[in-house]
Amino acid sequence: MRYVSTRGGMPPTPFTGILLEGLAPDGGLSMPETYPQVSRADLDAWRRLGYRDLAFEIFSRFMDDIPSADLRDIVYRTYTAAAFGSDDITPLSTLEPGVHLLHLSNGPTLAFKDVAMQLLGNLFEYVLAKRGDELNILGATSGDTGSAAEYAMRGKQGVRVFMLSPDGKMSPFQTAQMYSLQDANIFNIAVKGVFDDCQDMVKAVSNDLSFKAKYRIGTVNSINWARLVAQVVYYFKGYFAATKGNDEQVTFSVPSGNFGNVCAGHVARMMGLPVRRLVVATNENDVLDEFFRTGRYRVRPSSAVAQTSSPSMDISKASNFERFVFDLVGRDPKIVAGLWKQVDTNGEFDLSATPYFARLADFGFVSGRSSHADRLATIRRVHATYGVIVDTHTADGIKAGLEQREAGIPLLCLETALPAKFSATIVEALGHEPARPAGFDRIEALPLRYDVMPADAEAVKRYIEARC
Ligand SMILES: *Cc1c(COP(=O)(O)O)cnc(C)c1O
Repeated sequence: MRYVSTRGGMPPTPFTGILLEGLAPDGGLSMPETYPQVSRADLDAWRRLGYRDLAFEIFSRFMDDIPSADLRDIVYRTYTAAAFGSDDITPLSTLEPGVHLLHLSNGPTLAFKDVAMQLLGNLFEYVLAKRGDELNILGATSGDTGSAAEYAMRGKQGVRVFMLSPDGKMSPFQTAQMYSLQDANIFNIAVKGVFDDCQDMVKAVSNDLSFKAKYRIGTVNSINWARLVAQVVYYFKGYFAATKGNDEQVTFSVPSGNFGNVCAGHVARMMGLPVRRLVVATNENDVLDEFFRTGRYRVRPSSAVAQTSSPSMDISKASNFERFVFDLVGRDPKIVAGLWKQVDTNGEFDLSATPYFARLADFGFVSGRSSHADRLATIRRVHATYGVIVDTHTADGIKAGLEQREAGIPLLCLETALPAKFSATIVEALGHEPARPAGFDRIEALPLRYDVMPADAEAVKRYIEARC
């Protein structure tokens, strides 16, 4: 399997050649030259597999330059009951006949990003050891991504993490989750500023190409292809758990921000998984809902991004969306490059008057949008009807999923975080705190380890120099 860029400017490259990279050299995103096809016989065989063996089968098709025995070892070390709460890794539960929750948030940081990030930690360590190389991961976070990255990279050989977060702006739970890590290779930096300042610092350091090369600066953001492949597995797993045979179709509803999670569903469908629909659920930041309804992709200035009660979906543009558009336009990199040139100059493109708009349905995509009031109503309704507490992001997915539900088609709503992470909104909806999983009861009392820094890119460079 080799990878090409959505904009056509990268020679075909094997998996380990793109693993540590962010954008392709031409500013595009890496994509497999073709999707591996899963036959009916494969599906019949895979239906019987546990999570680890299923993951190995899927990864083997995308990561074929890693020797099988090594890949199997990495998978078996990553997806353990100790890390994910059970050997099912992503168990399915049933709310009522035909409506299910696919639980993706039982990993170390209680959000679905662990499923991909835990794999990335082991893949990075493996590839860096092979090359005798090191990597310094520099990132900015307002919560979920940063903590998932730190829990994945803690203690890994050859990797350091420098994570910028806005000082005093995260929830006490998220702050404790990140800053309580005592591992020598994890550096939490509390920046005197807002999340955008943190992101600007990361950009400024990455644009200093000689610093970037000398200090081996890398990222783990949501455009990483390995993260996407890791997420493909639970679409298969969820499908097998919700159906009796491989003639049935299912619909997935996916709380979406950067389009990474639902893009993995698209990849699973392109491989041959019988997916009827993929419901793209957004919050008030409805860039994606607008596109799937109208054909117009209109990125927002960061000043127009609303701070919502499903904060991990607060985006101005959807960084993985270009991958789907590549498939939508028949994999013509010239068309993709042209569209993103329009985004750069006009902030948008419009496909409504093109034949591509009609093709959206062929790919199964539909969408929905939630407000804060919808989120509260959904949390209350799910609690009252099923006795289950869901987090705010998951609530956005359930709302959009139920709106699009069709008789006879099982609906799988992806649970992307546990409610304990976003307890303020749960208290607002239900009047009481959600239960915390074992081991998290006293997390705010743990000793913290972090450094405070002004919003200054030079300061972060000096900080990294002093620690490498
Ligand atoms: C990151 C995140 C999302 C959005 O996922 P994308 O892959 O960016 O679309 C949704 N819910 C939670 C809880 C998240 O952390």
